[in-house]
Amino acid sequence: MKPGKILAVSIFGYLIYIGFQLFVMFNPNSPERLRNAQENIPSATEQRADNLWAYYLINADNPLPADFTVGLDKVQGNYMLDERCAGYARQMIADAAKDGIELTVVSAYRSVQKQQENLESYTQRLISLGHSSTEARKLAEKEIALPYTSEHNAGLALDILTPDWWETHDDVTADFENTEQFRWLTENAHKYGFIMRYPKEYENVTGIIYEPWHYRFVGVFYAGEIKESGLPLEYFYKTHF
Ligand SMILES: [Zn+2]
Repeated sequence: MKPGKILAVSIFGYLIYIGFQLFVMFNPNSPERLRNAQENIPSATEQRADNLWAYYLINADNPLPADFTVGLDKVQGNYMLDERCAGYARQMIADAAKDGIELTVVSAYRSVQKQQENLESYTQRLISLGHSSTEARKLAEKEIALPYTSEHNAGLALDILTPDWWETHDDVTADFENTEQFRWLTENAHKYGFIMRYPKEYENVTGIIYEPWHYRFVGVFYAGEIKESGLPLEYFYKTHF
């Protein structure tokens, strides 16, 4: 081979190598990136962990048991959470207010029956917008979890918006990410044990659309770890049990 050709082949090879590295770096789902992140996650027996009762997975594959019950306490207005984490939420809302940020809770604990009603009414709404009933149901299930599979049924999740949200919106939408409330939550929610549960990059892992308004209590220690890892609870959790 001529030296020029060897050089060309080497450069080509090097570019492929760089391309792969970039793929690993920027693809949030690349196995290498996940492995690297997971290796740095402390175990569930970690001494610093708090509120381990709240550290479990609830999703389509991991429903709550049929006999699930929860003791509730108020967070804001009539919105309630599990009494063991309601205080953390109240503190978060109070501290945000001190920073001049008004966090408005628009959903918290929902009974399984309410979950069923929400799913049905949203399906109907999509049908009225022109979707077929099968299509509407499928779309609705992407946004509203089946009964027993929602973190709201467990009393562990809050949906938070701005106080004037409904003046300019008729639905909860991803542009919540452009609010000062979202910026404050991104900076601070983990200090109170809450994580933004459904990140944009992991819709295919969580099975739920990007929801910048949905915050899930997992305990202060793990909220910090999860935030730092950038991974959704599914990956994080998988490494522990
Ligand atoms: Zn929610």
